[in-house]
Amino acid sequence: MGEFIRVEHLSHVFHAGEKDVHRALSDVSLSIAEGEFLAILGTNGSGKSTLARHFNALLMPTEGKCTVAGLDTRETQELWRIRELVSMVFQNPDNQIIAAVVEDDVAFGPENLGIEPQEIRARVREALAAVGMERYRTAAPHLLSGGQKQRVAIAGALAMKTRCLVLDEPTAMLDPLGRKEVLETVQRLHREKGITVICITHFMEEAAAADRVILMEEGRIAAEGSPREVFQDVGGMKARGLAVPLAVELAALLREAGVSLPADLLTDKELVKALCPSC
Ligand code: ADP
Repeated sequence: MGEFIRVEHLSHVFHAGEKDVHRALSDVSLSIAEGEFLAILGTNGSGKSTLARHFNALLMPTEGKCTVAGLDTRETQELWRIRELVSMVFQNPDNQIIAAVVEDDVAFGPENLGIEPQEIRARVREALAAVGMERYRTAAPHLLSGGQKQRVAIAGALAMKTRCLVLDEPTAMLDPLGRKEVLETVQRLHREKGITVICITHFMEEAAAADRVILMEEGRIAAEGSPREVFQDVGGMKARGLAVPLAVELAALLREAGVSLPADLLTDKELVKALCPSC
């Protein structure tokens, strides 16, 4: 897999030059591969959103550099190309939908690019099908559930032919069913369309679905690895005020109680299998 996003020695200072200077990111370096699914974890205020907003040039580095598909986010003439390649989905579904009908909302981005109406219709159809929302084509967005609204927001990004979804706590305001719908949709787009996914989340089960996890702490990357690697440090995660997936936590307690279990258990399914091979 080739590199898609490259962050080099990136620092971000809010209100630079004014009195209440706040350094939100310090010397962060990171490479994200095309087609990767990366989860970003960390407590509130650790710099997750600030980092993510550099990926589609909503924020520019105060120091260092961020490139997307080789395009430098500081080059203003590359801005629209970068925003076509990388789409953000935010926490509150109600802030992202602007049109009164689902298909008009999905068409909004491509319309602004000046794409032919026939091509827009095809893109909207395809995008809604990809998120399982084609039946709601003519629905009023405000009548949809939170999970459905987030899927419409994702369809809007797909209609722009995005290559990368940056999701900033996309399920934080959803009920468990909505969370499941959105996670399954994102996983499918990653698997079937090779879309690069960067997901900020507080839900460890969502992070467990990623290829790689980075853990932010006070504006720096404090830990990095596969979910299996990062979550095995149950004590370290808890000391940072973070949870681990239930199966990992339970497995650690069972090990302490003398039960012999494989070292890198991650999912409920794996724990059940280890405890009961014939289940
Ligand atoms: P997270 O997403 O991990 O909760 P953020 O990236 O939102 O963290 O914030 C990192 C730090 O930067 C926090 O201390 C936050 O208060 C500060 N911050 C974020 N946005 C701004 C802003 N627009 N102006 C000033 N400080 C900000």
